[in-house]
Amino acid sequence: MTQMNYTDKKKPTRVAIISNGKYQSKRIAGKLFAIFKDADNFYLTKRDPDVVISIGGDGMLLSAFHMYEKALDHVRFVGIHTGHLGFYTDYRDFEVDKLIENLRQDKGESISYPIVKVKITLADGRVIKGRALNESTIKRIEKTMVADVVINKVKFERFRGDGLSVSTPTGSTAYNKSLGGAILHPTIEALQLTEISSLNNRVYRTIGSSLIIPRKDAIEVVPKRLGVYTISIDNKTMQYRNVKKIEYSIDSKKIHFVATPSHTSFWERVMDAFIGECDS
Ligand code: NAD
Repeated sequence: MTQMNYTDKKKPTRVAIISNGKYQSKRIAGKLFAIFKDADNFYLTKRDPDVVISIGGDGMLLSAFHMYEKALDHVRFVGIHTGHLGFYTDYRDFEVDKLIENLRQDKGESISYPIVKVKITLADGRVIKGRALNESTIKRIEKTMVADVVINKVKFERFRGDGLSVSTPTGSTAYNKSLGGAILHPTIEALQLTEISSLNNRVYRTIGSSLIIPRKDAIEVVPKRLGVYTISIDNKTMQYRNVKKIEYSIDSKKIHFVATPSHTSFWERVMDAFIGECDS
């Protein structure tokens, strides 16, 4: 747990409220607006907030992260969950009063998780940069993707298949898990490189298991065929023609969540999301 550059208690906490379009989310947003509007210790603003409250599901939290990704140094996030599965959301829709009380008691502490830096270089020299909270994938839709995988400047393998995914520890429970990747605790600052339908036979070979790559090592994926590539960063998907290479590394910045008493531990969240209650 870390303490952020905070806390002049006389200065109101600047709060942004971001909600998805669901009726239930809008209703909670309305309730929060009404409470914060008249509170001395909070100031509602979408510009340069200290705390971003995301109302919806994980998708909404991912969108809130991307909305404020340029302010990661000083912004903290907290999620209220009105969707089905809340991996990044600590509060349920009926816990709004508890959230407000916890924010009133807040001392500026945060829980921080690594994110992945993405750098796409196109054959025409253009460079596109991004950050992912869950994962970034590269796929070739029209034909088999053939690409060299370079880890820490060493050519590791020539991959053939649908594509590759690079996930963060907190993203390891999302698409990465569906691809057969491992679940990685976020205190392990590493990326996970996972195959998407690799071709493995007597002629072509890939490692076949996901790889856990430490902070010091960068991953490069170098496509070997011209054509259209689909690159995703969390819930956003782009298409680029003729990708020269895509580089992945752990970003120098992290995402910070408000460390309220309701912030559930990683394993509790994994258990809650995937196992549910165990039979005794
Ligand atoms: P979405 O918002 O509908 O999310 C899809 C599901 O993934 C939801 O149930 C959500 O709660 C869950 N999810 C998101 N982040 C998670 C995490 N870190 N741990 C556990 N579950 C998580 O879909 P979207 O907005 O299109 O994409 C958001 C994310 O959905 C992507 O970043 C990707 O990880 C995930 N996704 C998963 C699959 C898959 O498992 N086959 C396919 C596409 C996207």
